[in-house]
Amino acid sequence: MTDLAAFAREKGIKYFMISYTDLFGAQRAKLVPAAAIGDMQSDGAGFAGFATWLDLTPAHPDMLAVPDTPSVIQLPWKKDVAWVASNCVMAGGSALDQAPRNVLARLIAEAAEMGLEIKTGVEPEFFLLTPDGSQISDPADTGTKPCYDQQAVMRRYDVIAEICDYMLELGWEPYQNDHEDANGQFEMNWKYDSAMATADKHSFFKFMVRSVAENHGLRATFMPKPIPGLTGNGCHAHISVWDQATGRNAFADDSKELGLSDSGRHFLGGIMKHASALAVITNPTINSYKRINAPRTISGATWAPNTVTWTGNNRTHMVRVPGPGRFELRLPDGAVNPYLLQAVIIAAGLDGLRSKADPGPRHDIDMYAEGHKIEGAPKLPLNLLDAIRAYDADEGLKEAMGQDFSAAYLKLKMQEWNSFVNHFSPWERDNTLDI
Ligand code: ADP
Ligand code: MG
Ligand code: MG
Ligand code: MG
Ligand code: MG
Repeated sequence: MTDLAAFAREKGIKYFMISYTDLFGAQRAKLVPAAAIGDMQSDGAGFAGFATWLDLTPAHPDMLAVPDTPSVIQLPWKKDVAWVASNCVMAGGSALDQAPRNVLARLIAEAAEMGLEIKTGVEPEFFLLTPDGSQISDPADTGTKPCYDQQAVMRRYDVIAEICDYMLELGWEPYQNDHEDANGQFEMNWKYDSAMATADKHSFFKFMVRSVAENHGLRATFMPKPIPGLTGNGCHAHISVWDQATGRNAFADDSKELGLSDSGRHFLGGIMKHASALAVITNPTINSYKRINAPRTISGATWAPNTVTWTGNNRTHMVRVPGPGRFELRLPDGAVNPYLLQAVIIAAGLDGLRSKADPGPRHDIDMYAEGHKIEGAPKLPLNLLDAIRAYDADEGLKEAMGQDFSAAYLKLKMQEWNSFVNHFSPWERDNTLDI
């Protein structure tokens, strides 16, 4: 337990940003003056839960966001302020079961009961756009194969280096930054950590990237497919599971195929088994389905999967085993909720471990060129409705994620789908007016 009042005195903090993440991944916060943090640290800051995406009604009592104090971070770009991740509790004291950080905490505890700690890294890609969000911010960034473009990354050096300096300062151990596969797109990588720490860092990273970009007169977006025809924003997750008693990576076994142990294979088997259902969490928006199942991009490849398959070091499949002792899930996109991403990986993976699930055959082909040759591999959902239905049909995953969470999430996502289909698009006018 970190004493926030003492932290404020030591660091010169004037305001605490008591922050929680709702079901749609939005971060919500109150700015609390340091002089008032004493009671808030224990009792939490009050919110009208209905005003955010939590599936509460206007008649519900207050929801309290109680700071998880070790997560506190002094904003490197605004030292007067500190951000702290919080857990959602209803007035009266019961945890709000469907709140994403609570869902993740419960699954981490389940893994701990099995003697396991899940460690993950994420790769949240983003674009730097003009402030109105209509186009990429660098007019010279026009190459058809812009990945790793040395000149273009240097034109955004001030933004990228500032963010990387902050990650160094925070001790996240960042190790590389690059221009990605779309014009205007970047990726920054830092070291993996335990699942909750990665989820908090992932949340803070999005906040930090947006804030620093704004300070430079730009707009950062993690939207899955912000620009038609260009590669979208992925958010790959790398996963390993560690034995708490020995401190060893339980996924590593040099004597096994690709250096992945039996438990690694079973965990992967759980991900494969639940893939179509978990897509509603890893790919949570209407726009997500324009990244997966997409036609070839201008660069030559989408780098996103369309089918439930796995492989070795080959980036055309849903799961890649890049080296011994871990695997990479390439399905998630930039819209993914940082807490639900980790939660659904653990939920599916633990089910795989318990049931000794088999991930099925490994395929080493180029999925973009030869994917049609694989028989029996499920196609990923084609749109959000498809994904909602796949999740709703997966009783095991719904139970593992928590029935309260699953009901709330499905209800809100169905509302989102209905809002989308009730909207009239130019496409339907263009294609229907003269019928
Ligand atoms: P790539 O682009 O080749 O997929 P990156 O270097 O961009 O790879 O990202 C790799 C991510 O995987 C990083 O977050 C890294 O810390 C993480 N990672 C590396 N080893 C492990 C491991 N054993 N368990 C979990 N994550 C890992
Ligand atoms: Mg008020
Ligand atoms: Mg990467
Ligand atoms: Mg990438
Ligand atoms: Mg990757």
